Amino acid sequence: MAVPSPLRRTFDYLPPLEADTKQLRPGVRVLVPFGNRKLVAVLVEMANGSDLPRSRLKPVTSILDSAALYSSAMMRVLRWASNYYQCPLGEVFATALPANLRSGKARNQTVSFWRASKDQECNSADLLKRALKQKHLFDFIETTGAVTTSQCQQAGFSVQLLRELDKKNLIESFDEFAARPDKFTPLDSNPEHSIALNPEQADAFASIQTKLDQFACILLDGVTGSGKTEVYMRAMQEQLAKGKQCLVLVPEIGLTPQTVMRFEQRFACPVVTLHSGLTDNERLSAWNMAFEGQAGIVIGTRSAIFTPLANPGLIVIDEEHDTSFKQQDGFRYSARDLAVVRAREEKICVILGSATPSLESLHNANSNKFTHLQLRNRAGNANICAIDIVDISSETLQGGFSELLLYKIEKHLRQQNQVLIFINRRGFAPVLNCNLCGWTAECENCVAQLTVHSKPPGLRCHHCGAVKPMPISCPHCQSKNLTTFGMGTQKIETFLIERFPKVPVLRIDRDSVRSKSKLDEMLEQVNRGEPCILLGTQMLAKGHHFPKITLAGILDADVGLFSADFRGQEQMAQTIIQVAGRAGRAEEPGEVLIQSRHAGHPILQCLARGDYAVFTEQLLQERKQAGMPPFAHLGLIRAESTDLQQPLAYLRKVRAFADELISQQQLRVAVLGPLPAPMEKRAGRYRVQLLLRSSNRGALQSLLTHICHFMETGKLPARLRWSVDVDPQDLI
Ligand code: ADP
Ligand code: ZN
Ligand code: ZN
Repeated sequence: MAVPSPLRRTFDYLPPLEADTKQLRPGVRVLVPFGNRKLVAVLVEMANGSDLPRSRLKPVTSILDSAALYSSAMMRVLRWASNYYQCPLGEVFATALPANLRSGKARNQTVSFWRASKDQECNSADLLKRALKQKHLFDFIETTGAVTTSQCQQAGFSVQLLRELDKKNLIESFDEFAARPDKFTPLDSNPEHSIALNPEQADAFASIQTKLDQFACILLDGVTGSGKTEVYMRAMQEQLAKGKQCLVLVPEIGLTPQTVMRFEQRFACPVVTLHSGLTDNERLSAWNMAFEGQAGIVIGTRSAIFTPLANPGLIVIDEEHDTSFKQQDGFRYSARDLAVVRAREEKICVILGSATPSLESLHNANSNKFTHLQLRNRAGNANICAIDIVDISSETLQGGFSELLLYKIEKHLRQQNQVLIFINRRGFAPVLNCNLCGWTAECENCVAQLTVHSKPPGLRCHHCGAVKPMPISCPHCQSKNLTTFGMGTQKIETFLIERFPKVPVLRIDRDSVRSKSKLDEMLEQVNRGEPCILLGTQMLAKGHHFPKITLAGILDADVGLFSADFRGQEQMAQTIIQVAGRAGRAEEPGEVLIQSRHAGHPILQCLARGDYAVFTEQLLQERKQAGMPPFAHLGLIRAESTDLQQPLAYLRKVRAFADELISQQQLRVAVLGPLPAPMEKRAGRYRVQLLLRSSNRGALQSLLTHICHFMETGKLPARLRWSVDVDPQDLI
């Protein structure tokens, strides 16, 4: 039984005393006594005996499902993940299951809908004469028939408006089983409205076609706008025609509603989306549609990789290089890597698509584990845009902009086009500085500088969320001569508004798009196509399609060039190329300007030629020489506590244990550390890490399992927390 407990083992139970034990099979949920609590567990295996005497075994309290929630293939995937990522199986299930199922609720649940009241006391037109917004909402509900609260919100109506209509008895709510009973109808394999593929796309598709319905990994490596999505859709079409379901993973759904819309418009089958914006009931309903085979297409972010499909046909990972596919806490899995394992177990094909593939995937393609398909040209009429490096080493910038970039912005706006300004915010936001003594505002909880925010004014730590009032004078020397230094999106926004007063400046970053409706509003404004300046961080580099953007400016490329992390350069290159890909996607030719103080740097020169392939070849060589991924595999053990000595001492003990095991079993694993993490202190806790490295996955795996067992069963100093990260995204 996989019980949601931090212990890395499963537990034995007796069958329930009264219930029908025929229902018991791997993959069903059961309620079990655990200590003095009752927990929802998943049955993993039926055993004939136990190591414990029968008298010490307790019976299962009740069986929660009449059918297994996961196929045997999916059960193998989840168990593989538990072993590989060194995460207790109970926690793996807790991540994989939708919240409602995790908490033990029944799988078939009802969802509340609104509809126009059957017995309206008086005429809606009369009642809503002076309430235009309510009238719009009423019309929306009446014409749609039945809508959920969140569907109303998505359509731009507030909950308050719903309440008003409810008070007036114009609408009523009713409950209905969320799941519809039938599987989706297989689609016609050749609907008229699909676009004719160009020769490159046709070649790629022909190659994919021969590999559908068997285990295969395909890396679709195509420049932005080369029509990768069109190729996915053709492969999906093939599978949907056979009545098979397709699972599509994307980095972020809120930002790419266009992608979802494209699938909905193209395919006449139910499309469900799974993302963080759903309520628990909506999520379960989507999950059910996938599980029961009613949904033809399931689109989701990272955790959607665990969605069971009644009839799996294809997995697509769009923007496979994106770091959001790796979970950074708890169960630290990579959805991309799990997709490959899942495809193997379900004997289906997985397509990994990107304009900037990860070094891992390129390496897999080079070693023939993946089939490498390339699209070198943009589809349709768009041309690949020119990338220029602007040397700012000897220029006094105005608000972070060079003369040339300002001139170009002016020019593109005057031609009625849109401009995108990208700022790499990491380590790049304004810091508060004393001009007299050199003091800088730092967070007391972290080894990090505080960031100056203007809306609302104050100092904020981006690592622990601490907020402090803006000091009037230097706490060190009392001087009032404080200045901000560096650039952040808010500061640049202010500058751009002053400099280009006639056009709207739209800032898109984590702070400005907290609310979905605000983001939708901004995206809609961009899509209207009128001149504007779009200003943003990494979020902007993710798969948008803005046809009127013709100029992309990257304010500073140097942060990534000299990053402390081993993936820093790879990520910078990906970001630059992705941002560049946003410019000139339609008929208008695009231009990209990158500002740097190191314009001659070979990496930038390489990127300026648009040569991601040459760049990655060089980087792969460097990684090979340094013995870093993808040529070696890493396991990172982190320990943290309120003082530095405790985790250091603890990890030294762990290291001694590891060293002994390595020499005993002659494992070829290198151990580095323990060392304080590059970001030594975070949210008041000191962080120390021990890095394990090996070119042999099995050896690393086995060592990690022993170490985890050692840490779990040994005595742990009070206040100390540890975690294991297999294939870590960064070492910070
Ligand atoms: P990617 O996913 O590689 O960024 P998309 O599939 O989104 O590229 O295609 C970019 C644009 O080119 C879209 O507007 C799409 O409709 C168009 N397009 C794709 N393939 C073709 C084609 N074969 N003929 C004409 N236009 C195409
Ligand atoms: Zn001072
Ligand atoms: Zn902090």
